[in-house]
Parts: sequence; C-alpha cells; structure tokens
Amino acid sequence: MVQLPVHNPIVFPSVLAGRQNGRLPVSLLWPTPGQAGGPTVRLVEPAARGWRAMCAAARTAGHILKVTSSADSYRSYEQQVATWTARYEPDNFPGSISSRVWPDHYDEQGRFVAAHRWYQKPDTAVAAYPGSSNHGWGLAADIGEESDGDAGIESLDDATLNWLIANAHLFGFSAEIQSEKWHWRRYSGDVIEPAIVAYEQGVDDMTPEQDATLKRIDGRVTTMLYDLDKNQWQGNENNALKAHLVAQDTKLDAILAAIAEIGSSAPEVAVILAGMQTKLDEQTAALEAELRDAVADGLEGGSAAVRADA
Ligand SMILES: [Zn+2]
Repeated sequence: MVQLPVHNPIVFPSVLAGRQNGRLPVSLLWPTPGQAGGPTVRLVEPAARGWRAMCAAARTAGHILKVTSSADSYRSYEQQVATWTARYEPDNFPGSISSRVWPDHYDEQGRFVAAHRWYQKPDTAVAAYPGSSNHGWGLAADIGEESDGDAGIESLDDATLNWLIANAHLFGFSAEIQSEKWHWRRYSGDVIEPAIVAYEQGVDDMTPEQDATLKRIDGRVTTMLYDLDKNQWQGNENNALKAHLVAQDTKLDAILAAIAEIGSSAPEVAVILAGMQTKLDEQTAALEAELRDAVADGLEGGSAAVRADA
C-alpha cells in the first residue's frame, strides 16, 4: 500500500481563532470554482489560496483535483452529523468494522448527550465525530471521492495521487490518515509557501477594482445560495428564485474557469470582467431585492436566522 505523507500537528490559521467547527460564517469561506464541472470548493484563507495554487500546478502537470460534492470541502456541523450517522450505528452489531466514541455534546435541540461508543457499518469510510472534522474548519478537501454518502468510495487515480504525494506539501497540504487517500488538508497555518506566492504573482495582475468586483459578485451569489439551501425553501417562488441563482452561479463558475484557463493577463479578461461588472452586478442586485421581498412576504419555511440576515 502507498504510504501517504502526513504532517502533524495541524497549525490553525489565525482566521479560525474563536470560531466553532462547522459553524463558520460564509464570509470566511473563500469560494473556488470546482474543476471538471465539480461544485464550488469552500475553504478558509489561506487554505483556499493554497488550494488554488495547487489546482493550477496539478492542471499544468495534467491532473485534475476534482471535488465531487459540495460537502467535500467545508462541511457544516449538520452535514458532519449526517455523514457520521450514515456510517456509524449507536449499537454494536455483527459485522461492524470499527468503533469510535462520540464524546459529550449537545444535540440540535440543545439537550446534553453523554459520550457514547458508535459502531462502523461495513463498506463505509471512517468519519470524524461531529464537530471534529477538518472539513468543519474549512481546511480539508476530498479529492476524487465519488460520494459523500455511506460508501466513501474513491476514484482518485494513481497518477494524481502520486502527484499529490510529491507536491501537496509545497502548498501546505498533506493527507491525514492512511485509509483515506482522497482526504487532503491544509496544515501550515498562516504560512504562505513560495509556490503559492509564485502562483499569485503569475495570475494576480487584475486591477484592484477588477479583483474586488470579481470577489464581490462571487461572494454575493454564494451567500444567497447558501441562505436558500440552509432554509430548504419548498415553495414555487423559491424554487424559481433558487433556479435563477443556480444558473447565475453556474455561469459565474464557467466564467471563472475560463479566466483560469486563459490566464488572467489575457486581454479578453478585462473585457469579460467589464461585462460582468455591469451585467452580473445588476442581476444580483435584482435577485437580492427579490430575496428581500420573499423574506418580507414571510414565505413558509424561511427561518428566523435568514430573516435576520436579510
Ligand atoms: Zn475528507
């Protein structure tokens, strides 16, 4: 079996000081367009900077670091509970392949739950107990894992894995455990490795205004999608609104991927960004107004949290 490099302990970046695992605000999660049609990857800075540089270097070497599910980078506390309960049973049973303790915690209704041993189902990957996964800190991404469901099957090819083993440390990433070759997490805190600096100097020649525009538009669309997802609104109006936003997000991801492809110094980029500034800015402003109206109308299923946000 291939020996995976593991750098321990993890040094946390300062942006995580005082934060709670799985409860990170959207503003801390830097979105990076997924590769090969994958979903947007959400990591905290500087993990996101390392990730972007690493993806670019991998692509140059002919490898795609594809993350297949939106829960395969940042993972909320609720998503960690879902992953845990998909893979572990609270009572022992014949055929269980390992066991782990879920320590003392409070459930979603705020009730105290004492530490209890849970038993792993066959054909599943191990999971960190809820609130302890590096995914909940926005530091980890699963590369080439086919499903975040109970199987934990991976499809990371050997050539890409060997590239990661040889190069991931240049961007502050390492594997975490030998049984999960798809799980790579950022360990080097606030250090910005030379390979990241070199990458950013090579691509980051947009004007500060263009850069700000891009971040603002992407951040707004991402935040609105997150709010809608969080509330799982079911009404027709909300489905229409969500479809709208998903279309915007897809379009934006395609544009960002195109920019990454041609390099942001290409003259086309200035034109693309100028177009985006007017068009997407108008559209997202209109969508935000729609969202505000929808919340003001008190649509069923909207939570107090989002009403407060809006
Ligand atoms: Zn993972």
